[in-house]
Amino acid sequence: MTKFSSKKTLLLAGAGHAHIGMLRRLSAARLKDADTIEADIHLISQQPQTIYSGMLPGWMAGHYQLHDISIDIKSLCVRAGVRFIQQSLVQVNAASNKVVTTGDEQTDFDYDVLSLNTGADTDMRWLPDHNSYNEYRSDNDDNNTGAANTNVIAIRPLSTFITQWQRILKAAQQSEKYQLAIIGAGAAAIELVMAAQVTLRNINRNHQVTLVCGENLLSGFNSGFRQRVIKQLHRHDITIVRERATDYRDGKLSTTHKSLPINAVIAATGVIGSAWTASTDLEIEGDGFVAVNDKQQSVSHPNVFAVGDVAIRVDKYVAHSGVHSVHGGAVEADNLLAYLGDNVMKSYQPKSRTLYLLSCGDKYAIGSWGNVNLQGRWVWHLKKYIDKRFIEADKD
Ligand SMILES: Cc1cc2nc3c(=O)[nH]c(=O)nc-3n(C[C@H](O)[C@H](O)[C@H](O)COP(=O)(O)OP(=O)(O)OC[C@H]3O[C@@H](n4cnc5c(N)ncnc54)[C@H](O)[C@@H]3O)c2cc1C
Repeated sequence: MTKFSSKKTLLLAGAGHAHIGMLRRLSAARLKDADTIEADIHLISQQPQTIYSGMLPGWMAGHYQLHDISIDIKSLCVRAGVRFIQQSLVQVNAASNKVVTTGDEQTDFDYDVLSLNTGADTDMRWLPDHNSYNEYRSDNDDNNTGAANTNVIAIRPLSTFITQWQRILKAAQQSEKYQLAIIGAGAAAIELVMAAQVTLRNINRNHQVTLVCGENLLSGFNSGFRQRVIKQLHRHDITIVRERATDYRDGKLSTTHKSLPINAVIAATGVIGSAWTASTDLEIEGDGFVAVNDKQQSVSHPNVFAVGDVAIRVDKYVAHSGVHSVHGGAVEADNLLAYLGDNVMKSYQPKSRTLYLLSCGDKYAIGSWGNVNLQGRWVWHLKKYIDKRFIEADKD
């Protein structure tokens, strides 16, 4: 690893996929040569543990325990020689190299180099009163009580969703009839709806699970893949409503032409920038994402880097996905070290084909790699193998 010319402060904000990779790399380097990295490195994370989204549907379907899908960030920081700060980033003042965080108290941190990997929020703008929903949510994120006064549940933050899903299960167990809707048209919504169906059918015989997906189901995928997914949705008796959701109130989910009686709604309706992006001096593009170049470097402030769902590339379209956070994160980690050491940085060029594996609830999965489609129980085992390799990379 690069030796820094002088000791600077590298601040990592958020424990997303990219920073997990960075921490693992620092930890491995430390095992080999404890003195190699001469920078003060700090990581700001809301929680000491982070949930791995790729295995969340498997947890919902009962294939994994919560600890199987969690990564212990605090321990990873200790092994990597990184100071762990349990706080939430609320402001980035890039002109003065400062971030503001909240936790027990509001704190300022100075940095020489900042790396952002804080992910994004669920896009709740389909809900007419989404502003009051967001206010409610931010008041309830930290304590995670799950005692929601709303039955609309955003998939992000995942830690809040975990509590809310347990609340749904309890309500379903106690209800004579339970109707759940998942809103979304992407791979996450498809995995969630099938996982929910597999679990609900074991606890409530008189239940119904509905996917409200608009007209563009899995728009980024090939048509053969879409057909296979639709077959699986039918196999699971999931009702598909190809209309847009427009509101939820008083136990009724409104779509473009329908009003459906629904007990709870899970929204996997795409991503939008986190609230702090509205007041930063960093250049922001799209729906609140930090604008970066091919080096994952802010286009407005060269000592700020961003990767994963928090960022948007200005030179080409790169989908918001865990895959790009991991691969972009590896390049970004090289670039952070190169920037600190005054060395040449690399460009992140995503591969033309990405392997997507979509779990279908009951240990069955469908895969897509460019135009090649796969499916079967063996695909689920392949997904399990890849997911476990990621999550267990630093377990002894
Ligand atoms: C159910 C589901 C399944 C998915 N499956 C796949 C899949 O199989 N393959 C794939 O490629 N993509 C998948 N995705 C998409 C994938 O989860 C995201 O694209 C990916 O997680 C983005 O990674 P990230 O590194 O940007 O941030 P994240 O993984 O979102 O992590 C961000 C971290 O930052 C923390 N954080 C957030 N805000 C703050 C703050 N203000 N201060 C401090 N910390 C903060 C969060 O708590 C979190 O730990 C799935 C998504 C879902 C919802």
